[in-house]
Amino acid sequence: MGSVEIQSAFKWTCIHCGQLNFHAGIAAELTEEQRKTLEAEMRAQAPPGSEWIPEGTWIMAPKEVECSRCQTKYKGVYGDEEESADPTEPFPES
Ligand SMILES: [Zn+2]
Repeated sequence: MGSVEIQSAFKWTCIHCGQLNFHAGIAAELTEEQRKTLEAEMRAQAPPGSEWIPEGTWIMAPKEVECSRCQTKYKGVYGDEEESADPTEPFPES
């Protein structure tokens, strides 16, 4: 049996057709200063008694996604980023 490397991905459900979609993370291009700021934030959020070790590449959620079934395009909203309150509102062009 061959083997494949399993990687994390972002998943989302199309609100038009219900298709579950997966999207690979995008490697963030950060300046050294941005990287240090992010790492300091991660350390600050670490549970007491644990240690967070920076490793590898920062991955960002995609800003735009397209449904693999119906090809509807959406703006990607991740975590506590600002969300459109009404999903029927057209998404602003960025
Ligand atoms: Zn769809």
